[in-house]
Amino acid sequence: MEIDCIFCKIIAKQIPTSIIEETETILVIKDISPQAPIHYLIIPKEHRKDLLALGQKDREMAADILYMTHILAKKHDVVSFKLVNNNGAASGQSVFHIHFHFLAGKAFNF
Ligand code: 5GP
Ligand code: ZN
Repeated sequence: MEIDCIFCKIIAKQIPTSIIEETETILVIKDISPQAPIHYLIIPKEHRKDLLALGQKDREMAADILYMTHILAKKHDVVSFKLVNNNGAASGQSVFHIHFHFLAGKAFNF
């Protein structure tokens, strides 16, 4: 676990949170500050700072994230959704443990 990483602490169950899905490699939680009726965070359990920190050995992790998007859409019966990753502080990334926002349940204009 990375010291002082909020998502690592959530993954380690040190901080209670609303878990939507959990696999061996991925945790999906509700965003604490939802920007849509459905706003989940898809978080790989292994700490990586951002997409640029991924290496060859992380290709399965990347695939697991994308496939989790499919699982969420099917389970929650949504055909329209956004999958958003903020990479780097200037993009809006505020938690430096890679994660993807799964947003659905409203019309988006961005
Ligand atoms: P970023 O800005 O890095 O792309 O996204 C971080 C997201 O994590 C934000 O949407 C923020 O609301 C969410 N977040 C930050 N801290 C917590 C927390 O302790 N619990 C949960 N469930 N979400 C969090
Ligand atoms: Zn972490």
